[in-house]
Amino acid sequence: MTIAANEAACLDPEEEQAFLDAIERWVQKEVRPVVMEHDHGDIWPEKLVGQMAEMGLFGATIGKEYGGLGLPATTYAKIIAYISSYWMAITGIVNSHLIMAAAVERFGTEEQKQKWLPRFATGEIRGGLALTEPNAGTDLQAIRTVARREGDEYVINGTKTWISNGIKGECFALLVKTDPNAQPAYKGMSLMIAPKGEGFSVGKKFDKLGYKSIDSAEMVFDDYRIPAENLIGGIEGQGFFQATGGLELGRINVAARGVGLADGALRLATEYAQVRKTMGKPIAEHQAIQLKLGEMVTRARAARLLTLDAATAYDRGERCDMEAGMAKYFASEAAVRNSEESLRIHGGYGYSKEYDIERFYRDSILMCIGEGTNEMQRIIISKQWVKRNPA
Ligand SMILES: Cc1cc2nc3c(=O)[nH]c(=O)nc-3n(C[C@H](O)[C@H](O)[C@H](O)COP(=O)(O)OP(=O)(O)OC[C@H]3O[C@@H](n4cnc5c(N)ncnc54)[C@H](O)[C@@H]3O)c2cc1C
Repeated sequence: MTIAANEAACLDPEEEQAFLDAIERWVQKEVRPVVMEHDHGDIWPEKLVGQMAEMGLFGATIGKEYGGLGLPATTYAKIIAYISSYWMAITGIVNSHLIMAAAVERFGTEEQKQKWLPRFATGEIRGGLALTEPNAGTDLQAIRTVARREGDEYVINGTKTWISNGIKGECFALLVKTDPNAQPAYKGMSLMIAPKGEGFSVGKKFDKLGYKSIDSAEMVFDDYRIPAENLIGGIEGQGFFQATGGLELGRINVAARGVGLADGALRLATEYAQVRKTMGKPIAEHQAIQLKLGEMVTRARAARLLTLDAATAYDRGERCDMEAGMAKYFASEAAVRNSEESLRIHGGYGYSKEYDIERFYRDSILMCIGEGTNEMQRIIISKQWVKRNPA
């Protein structure tokens, strides 16, 4: 199956700058003042979600013909990186939704695109991607949720867990087994458009270390029925490829979030190191701190370049699992390292909830787990590398 290049891949630089300027104004005026209150209280940011919908962010990467902004992945990555440099968690509300939308746009039938994408683009219907189960995260082929065909419907039974936007979202791209006996297992897997309804219930919001304010939840499907027309692409057995294909954009997004966290942690450290004095001079003038800042700025820059490299390949319609994997792996590790170093530069104050840096520290480690763990990323990178360089 070929993947069409994004027609908007060559966004006019002025047009792109206008988007980025609007995002910057919004972050500074609306997001920055309320981050701590929301994060500490684990409060869902209703007002900000409404503003993101008004700005068109729920349709950021959806094609213009379906009512979206049709932004290329490169512009999208820059937007996500900037927002994440102040508050990473809020980008998850958009990203999980857009991964669902990308699955429909890339692999759905024309009828499915016409029916769902315009309502996804406005944010009228928001949602996410439901792959993980209590017994299967990395090993997706081990999922147990089954969709049994009955006439013009599928009857679905099973449990999903850790699903972002699980409580506040209305519709999910749901990975199921339509043939639980298929060998290999991926041949029996399908992806469904699953709006909430009878038989689809959601458990409580998980209490997490970080990534606050966005709801992560368990979902239970108990004889949940959906029309057969909700099978993405209309052909059974394509779900594993569709779900993991969607993860390329997801990985670029996680990489962009890592870039933002690495940048933000660097920004906080840079500011603090110039005002905090010890031994009669700003700590930025002590060599031990200079070494840290030198490494941090290099790491943040390298993470950004790898992420834009992967996003450019995605926009060209090229296979980019290796590039997205490298960006995701490097940028997420950069986020963790920069957050820790920035926290250390803040000394005891870094450990206080009155400063922002502790949030970066808590949020950054998730980037190493979500959208494929960093252990798996390195294996994916290695396999692709060897495949592209046969002896
Ligand atoms: C806050 C949050 C939000 C999430 N949002 C979503 C969401 O919206 N939708 C969704 O579907 N999922 C979501 N997830 C789930 C996430 O994708 C999984 O947690 C992740 O894929 C890892 O799966 P697991 O937790 O089952 O770990 P496991 O797969 O059990 O892995 C445990 C450890 O073993 C390692 N490991 C596993 N297999 C191998 C192997 N073959 N080789 C080497 N190492 C291996 C892993 O790297 C990891 O270190 C979310 C998770 C969190 C924490």
